[in-house]
Amino acid sequence: AEELLIKSERLSAAGDLAAGIAHEIRNPLTALKGFVQLMQSSRSEYDQYLTIMTDELNRIDTIVSELLVFAKPAEPHLVRHDLRRVVPEVVELLSPQSVLGGVTLQTTLPDDAADVICDPNRIKQVMVNVIKNAMEAMAEDGGQISITMQSAAGANRSTVTLTICDDGPGIPEAVLAHVGEPFYTTKAAGTGLGLMVSRKIIEAHNGVLHVTSRVGEGTQVEIVLPLA
Ligand code: ADP
Ligand code: MG
Repeated sequence: AEELLIKSERLSAAGDLAAGIAHEIRNPLTALKGFVQLMQSSRSEYDQYLTIMTDELNRIDTIVSELLVFAKPAEPHLVRHDLRRVVPEVVELLSPQSVLGGVTLQTTLPDDAADVICDPNRIKQVMVNVIKNAMEAMAEDGGQISITMQSAAGANRSTVTLTICDDGPGIPEAVLAHVGEPFYTTKAAGTGLGLMVSRKIIEAHNGVLHVTSRVGEGTQVEIVLPLA
């Protein structure tokens, strides 16, 4: 029970920080967006600047939303949960986007339950972040994403490994060294928060998240979590 409490505190500390920052930014942001809208409605010589301001404000809005998703729920809800159940839910959530992008999702789950003490919503968020990255990387010509789950019994600790593989363009070494750093993105409309937030969530669950990649072959994200 004590260990559970420590885990839950760790999760909530990271979440609180994100929530605090996000709320502080959201209020002035809402005001700014309102004034820009007001100025745009009165057509002026500054129209093109106002358009740029709107784009930039929307960008900040996306970043703040991403932080808020991480922060919610305020209290992490730790339960014993079969990790296999999370996979089809995430796949269903992302299926419209995968159809549009010409991406097929293939899942392989173990026969036995993979119970983990976790906040299932946060684990789902990690999976969404990782799979979305794969889809975005393959946006040009589609491809395949495989999601594999496998349990391993160890002498003093048993784990479950979730591997998400894509056959997209891969990540050049110079980029790979920086992925997961806050705000590091190679996308025009990216926030560079997805992998940072995902890694924090997994580490708060006493797990690890690894990214490996080969240019021209694809990218593999491996998430290892302790079994309950
Ligand atoms: P964002 O998606 O907003 O750019 P992330 O933290 O999710 O931020 O990802 C950081 C960067 O890592 C991306 O901009 C991209 O360059 C790279 N990346 C992540 N996943 C993949 C992938 N599956 N294939 C290729 N590049 C990836
Ligand atoms: Mg991302």
